Amino acid sequence: MHCPTCNTKIIYYFGKTVKGKQRFLCSSCGSEFTPEQSIERR
Ligand SMILES: [Zn+2]
Repeated sequence: MHCPTCNTKIIYYFGKTVKGKQRFLCSSCGSEFTPEQSIERR
C-alpha cells in the first residue's frame, strides 16, 4: 500500500467511508485516499 499521489509508503489509517471502505491518510503529502480498483463497476 502506498500513496497514489506521492508514492510514499508512510500512510496512516484514516477512518472509513460511508460505504465501509478503509480510508488512508498520507503523512508525506497529506492527501486522503481510498484503496480501490481504478476501474469503477456500475
Ligand atoms: Zn502522498
